[in-house]
Amino acid sequence: MSDDNREDPNAWAPATRLIRGGMARSNYGEISEPIFLTQSFAYDSAEAADRRFSGEEPGFIYARYGNPTVKMFEDRLALLEGAQACRAAASGMAAIHTALVGLLKAGDHLVASRALFGSCRWIIGQLLPRFGVETTFVDGTDLDAWRAAMRPNTRVCFLESPANPLLEIVDVAAVAQIAHAGGARLVVDNAFASPILQKPLTLGADIVIYSATKHIDGQGRVLGGAILGDEALLEESYKDLIRHTGPALSPFSAWVLLKGMETLELRVMRQSETAARLADLAAGHANVRKVLYPGRADHPQHALAMRQMSAGGTILAFDLGARGAAFRFLNALQIVDISNNLADAKSMAVHPSTTTHRSTPEPERLAIGLTEGFVRLSAGLEAYEDLARDVTRALDEAGRDG
Ligand SMILES: *Cc1c(COP(=O)(O)O)cnc(C)c1O
Repeated sequence: MSDDNREDPNAWAPATRLIRGGMARSNYGEISEPIFLTQSFAYDSAEAADRRFSGEEPGFIYARYGNPTVKMFEDRLALLEGAQACRAAASGMAAIHTALVGLLKAGDHLVASRALFGSCRWIIGQLLPRFGVETTFVDGTDLDAWRAAMRPNTRVCFLESPANPLLEIVDVAAVAQIAHAGGARLVVDNAFASPILQKPLTLGADIVIYSATKHIDGQGRVLGGAILGDEALLEESYKDLIRHTGPALSPFSAWVLLKGMETLELRVMRQSETAARLADLAAGHANVRKVLYPGRADHPQHALAMRQMSAGGTILAFDLGARGAAFRFLNALQIVDISNNLADAKSMAVHPSTTTHRSTPEPERLAIGLTEGFVRLSAGLEAYEDLARDVTRALDEAGRDG
């Protein structure tokens, strides 16, 4: 077949992209993606090394700059996201740190929604100000607050939607417009939605970030992260930063993540369906005060969620009224694990205010509505009937006197 007749991978549906995208077979014709556990690469001659380093000749130089297995991961994720380019990182936080530092310098200003993963909050609230970057947190659901926070030196707007842990939804397209009108770029942490349910680049974001540890691995094995966007922007903002600071993803982890991607769509769709059913189950239980799930009509931003996401997602949160009830619920679970991870094949529940959001000061926790009665639940791949029985028993238990 001539090259002209080859299928364009951009015409493939997500399921095909996830299995076929980015595959670079070696001369052995292996079916599974090869793992290149190599730090460096040999050159045919001194002249070849010269050309490789000058950029005249394409090819790998050192695994901190790039590696064939890592590149397969980057190419597959870029194809799925519909992004021109992807840069892998060793964890979601390495990706977020690199993404922000690469766009900012002393004297710049950043605006972020305040409902954020604890470590994102720390980078924005504590770390960046140490280097002379001014930062402002806003209520992400309040577009006037975003507008009011913009300053002449605002270079980056940052948000997470749905946000951890209470599934707040931010209008990505509207914030992208506000950012662009002010000469800033919009960076979106899309970990909760996954690339299956939400495409921030098509909504106007400039950079999308993943913790690949979550849905993309999805089976509790490795850490990973990714930054996606236009090639020119990634090259300009991150090439030197990545080369010289070393957030590189391990080739072994990239290989695990490639395997995870083969089942990503199946898992996300099934886990979303289970999460939706568990949200309804919880909403109908007498010991539950409030359920937060973007796919339910009673979620405060339900209409917006359904505009920018193709399903409600794999995670829900509910309020049991007090810490004692939340702890009784968690301690009564027999199938669902108590764990701070999420988007795993194994269902997991956690009490955010004493774990994942412990480092968020209490007034800020209360500002995002995170009271001590809340539990976050990540729906896994177990049979719904078994999960329903486990969750119902634990909800019953939550109501017993401590
Ligand atoms: C887990 C998570 C991260 C951090 O990812 P790691 O891979 O654990 O470093 C960042 N953002 C969100 C929304 C997350 O859930």
